[in-house]
Amino acid sequence: MKNTQKDGFDFETKYSHNGILNSKVLLLNASYEPLSICNVKKAVCLIFLGKAELVADNSAKSLRSVSSSFQFPSVIRLVHFIKIPYKKIILTRKNILKRDHHKCGYCGRSDLPLTIDHIKPSSRGGEDTWENLVTACLPCNNKKGDRTPTEAGLNLVIRPYAPSHLMFLKNSVNRLEDSWKPYLFNV
Ligand SMILES: [Zn+2]
Repeated sequence: MKNTQKDGFDFETKYSHNGILNSKVLLLNASYEPLSICNVKKAVCLIFLGKAELVADNSAKSLRSVSSSFQFPSVIRLVHFIKIPYKKIILTRKNILKRDHHKCGYCGRSDLPLTIDHIKPSSRGGEDTWENLVTACLPCNNKKGDRTPTEAGLNLVIRPYAPSHLMFLKNSVNRLEDSWKPYLFNV
């Protein structure tokens, strides 16, 4: 164990400087259901502790420490199934922006100040729901005012929906690794 710890330390010293240990790894439950995204450092620790196993590696990269070499993890799977209670994504301004990829739901622009728009105005009974709230840039929001999109001559370019845990997982990374796709799209 002593050697292991020393090795782990060297490993970290060698790789932490260039951010390689922060590369993203998809973490699956024992059932292959996607759970979350962690960094390489955590993934290697989980494998090392026998809590997870490697499902897919990134063959273009490898990790070497003083005395061992590791396959660079891309997808890992927990050895023991963990039961995660169904978590509802909370309806917040931040989560609406995240769902809409920080783009205006009417013009698609992301380079303008963004607000949250009630598609059916609240003054006319529009509710605070995932389906009735959308990201809107300031000009579109001002143009729309207290009207429905149709009345204001605006078209929604996205369909607002209640997001799932999986959608948030997909949105939280800029580029999906090819090795992740079978697990993120077949569920
Ligand atoms: Zn807009």
